[in-house]
Amino acid sequence: MIRFALALGLSLFSALATAELPTPGHFPGGVALVPINTDSARFNDKPLWVDEGIAIVPLPLSLSAGTHQVNTPAGAVAFTIDGRSYPEQRIRLNNPKMVTPDPDHLKRIRAESAEQRAWYEQRSDFTPRLPMVLPIRGPITGAFGRKRFFNDQPRAPHSGVDIAAPTGTQIFSPTDGVVLGIGDYYFNGKTVFVDHGRGLISMFCHLSDFAVSPGQRLVQGELLGYVGATGRATGPHLHWSVSLSNVRVEPALFAPELADLNP
Ligand SMILES: [Zn+2]
Repeated sequence: MIRFALALGLSLFSALATAELPTPGHFPGGVALVPINTDSARFNDKPLWVDEGIAIVPLPLSLSAGTHQVNTPAGAVAFTIDGRSYPEQRIRLNNPKMVTPDPDHLKRIRAESAEQRAWYEQRSDFTPRLPMVLPIRGPITGAFGRKRFFNDQPRAPHSGVDIAAPTGTQIFSPTDGVVLGIGDYYFNGKTVFVDHGRGLISMFCHLSDFAVSPGQRLVQGELLGYVGATGRATGPHLHWSVSLSNVRVEPALFAPELADLNP
């Protein structure tokens, strides 16, 4: 926030009094910081987190480079984003049902995705505490945004970051929040959703076990579960998605320490 406050001509004193914002990333999968003259705004018809005249705009991976706009009560405000090419990731799975599920599994998968979407659409009134810290440390084995192929079949791009660690490694909440829900899902395995406020949600997948229950308040750095390989996983790792207004975005914009982890 300090860098942006200075750019906007505000004093350092007032910058320190405001919330920290994510690092801007004006590219598909990133987060745009757009100065506006109102305290509310929408993008793609979704309400945005607005802090001190800055709209924090999540940019879907499918968004094209060029000019876009946020809508405010005082009119539209344009901003531009650059293109970004994400590399491919090819994954070999021994269980073909994890690539092409059976029809009876599809029913379960649809119900599970509806449940998870409802959590991603949660929008609480408290302001996120940023920056986030790392939930675990380990090598990054799957970067955010990669175009993915399972057994050579194209699937959705990677919606989070994979960090490898031994089964049982403790996972800590990257910032304050409330446990929205826990589940044991076909693809994601044992999963925890944490609400960080203003539509900012974390999802932690493939856990071996939980350390929290729904509704529980968490402070930054509090234990929430343990690394595992449940669901669609080729080995023990944490999949961590960061979502804003139900758009999955680059976690490193919220947790700068991710840049310290080596692939
Ligand atoms: Zn993953």
